[in-house]
Amino acid sequence: METEIINIVEIIKKNKQMREVKSFIDLMKSFYDEKSCREFLEDIKWRGEPICPHCNCQTKEHYKLKSNGEFKGLYKCKRCKKRFTVTIGTMFEGSHVSLKKWFYALYIFLAHKKGISSIQLSKDIDVTQKTAWFMLERIRHNLKDKLVVQFNDMTQVDETYVGGKNKGRVKNAQGRSLKVKTPVVGLLSNGMAYTAVVPNTGGKVLKTIINTLVKEGSTVITDGWKGYTGISKNYIHKVVEHSTGEYVKDGFHTNSIEGFWSHLKRGILGIYHKVSPKHLDKYCDEFAFRYNTRGLTDVERFTYFTMSAYKRLKYQSLISP
Ligand SMILES: [Zn+2]
Repeated sequence: METEIINIVEIIKKNKQMREVKSFIDLMKSFYDEKSCREFLEDIKWRGEPICPHCNCQTKEHYKLKSNGEFKGLYKCKRCKKRFTVTIGTMFEGSHVSLKKWFYALYIFLAHKKGISSIQLSKDIDVTQKTAWFMLERIRHNLKDKLVVQFNDMTQVDETYVGGKNKGRVKNAQGRSLKVKTPVVGLLSNGMAYTAVVPNTGGKVLKTIINTLVKEGSTVITDGWKGYTGISKNYIHKVVEHSTGEYVKDGFHTNSIEGFWSHLKRGILGIYHKVSPKHLDKYCDEFAFRYNTRGLTDVERFTYFTMSAYKRLKYQSLISP
């Protein structure tokens, strides 16, 4: 998939509905029904005339189909004769939940530092908990490919273990809690984090991740764990020996990734205390996404995420290093 570089500030400025939105209250005023939400999606997706997703026609010729005399966003392509709406291929497609509720859920989920539980969301937007859970899953599913895919320059790599603190409450958790600690590997460079839930922190696993994600020849900073032994073959390897009380060596450290871990662990304990190892990767992605977009305002993050539900996008760097 090609990456398009966008300037999110410009896009917001050009959109008449989003231009004035500064808070959640403004969002509710601007996006009060299906039409207002749909028109926003059409604008950020097509930025002009609708393009049929079935044949990707460049002629942009279409009919607007009405139901009960009213146009509700259903188009018919003049070329391939197929019908389409703006939500095809997105997390909104085929959902019985109104776009207005989706917008509110997205905004809250992305703006709140520690996310939101499905129980809380179900109350806030008046849907069942099952629906709220499903919505959050769809949102999380969209997060992964918005994260950084290649690291270069100086990359901090660290492994940690998440969960395993609730041994006394296993009975209530019905086996869904993290009874055992799950290993997670994190990479951080230029203020951007990436995580991967791994089966173990052995050398083979760590090296596969580093070789896949970090550009050869970059500087990789790790602690003294033996799993990192041998990466100096492809990288400049700087080791900070935590076991001997060393936290900075020649100006190199792993403090940023460790700061990210403590934020992640607090978040998971505080809100998502019933995360199973199976779902842990999605929660890690969620925290990485918020962390990586911390230089954006809540409105910018919302717009960026909603736009990138259609394609892979890179926002113009707004994050200070
Ligand atoms: Zn078509």
